[in-house]
Amino acid sequence: MTTKQTQTLETRLVQLGVGRDERTGAISFPIYPSATYRHPGVGESTGYDYTRSGNPTRELLEEALAELEGGQRGLAFSSGMAALTTLFLHFSSGDHIIVSEDLYGGTYRLLAQVFEKLGLSASYVDTTDNGAVAAAVTTATRALLVETPGNPLLGVADLEELGRLCRERGLLFIVDNTFLTPVLQRPMEFGADVVVHSATKYLGGHNDLCSGALIARSAELGERLYFLQNSTGAVLPPQECWLLVRSLKTLSLRMERHCANALQIARRLKAHPKVTAVYFPGLEDHPGHELSKRQASGFGGMLSFRVETPELARTALKRLRLISFAESLGGVESLMTLPAVQTHGDIPPEERERLGICESLLRLSVGIESAEDIIADLEQALA
Ligand SMILES: *Cc1c(COP(=O)(O)O)cnc(C)c1O
Repeated sequence: MTTKQTQTLETRLVQLGVGRDERTGAISFPIYPSATYRHPGVGESTGYDYTRSGNPTRELLEEALAELEGGQRGLAFSSGMAALTTLFLHFSSGDHIIVSEDLYGGTYRLLAQVFEKLGLSASYVDTTDNGAVAAAVTTATRALLVETPGNPLLGVADLEELGRLCRERGLLFIVDNTFLTPVLQRPMEFGADVVVHSATKYLGGHNDLCSGALIARSAELGERLYFLQNSTGAVLPPQECWLLVRSLKTLSLRMERHCANALQIARRLKAHPKVTAVYFPGLEDHPGHELSKRQASGFGGMLSFRVETPELARTALKRLRLISFAESLGGVESLMTLPAVQTHGDIPPEERERLGICESLLRLSVGIESAEDIIADLEQALA
């Protein structure tokens, strides 16, 4: 029999929690809803005192997250934004961070409208351009936060080069790995100090769970982030932890299908007469294609495309039958959105214009339905 260390990621995912409940031998590790725990005596503990500080079901999930990303510590939060808020509290007033300009709208809002007031400033930089990142570093800069592929235009940042830059300049290297998951991309292999997830997306994978995660490369940073998690309290409840573990068991299978479907759909959209551009790193002419092949083992299930006019984008969204017009991404069900109005509505219009997030740009989170059925729906919606 193989040992845990030599098993593939796929096997370890499926086996999460198996054999962990020694008393009963349960295959599915139980949910521990208990808010508090009895102490054997004064100054003694079973290892669990109070559920915000530690919970057996959450512990299984957090250990799994750390192991999947190759870090020393995983922490589970009630949403991706809760994870990012906790992470940003690591910084002090006067600090500066550099972030991808092709950024999740909610992260932009959190930085620009919440943390800016607390004295944490941010520069929004094209992180697919290593020179631009280097030029944005000031004496106050403490960290670089990269989303790759970017949202919604799927630009690919060079994790190896950016990791090197962060080491040279003494910056904390943070990667939001929501779009590809550790099944396809492991940022810590390129020097990331912290990996962030909106586990609401692919890790959860069924559009039925809101959750987030932080994974720290070192035990020291993990301890500091744990202190912040316990102090601020946005932990993931035990029921949701159990559901997320259940979801992780099928993650690699799901990602395989998301990737295969997205590639097929991107190619078909590219040939469509009313589609003027397709953004998907799996297409040979995408500027991040080669880089993506080097640093990830798949291109993921997200793509964006431009149609001839904003009117066509709106009509198409109304006419969708199989695909749902909805925010979010990464679930088994296909979803489509209009980033300029929905996910990126909080980014100032001039900034959106500059980035190319106009009202004829549609973003598709390709689900795991049959690719032919998804294509048929897109074709009738664009007809
Ligand atoms: C959705 C998302 C977030 C925010 O996560 P929530 O779970 O919605 O709070 C952060 N980063 C990325 C890349 C996302 O897609």
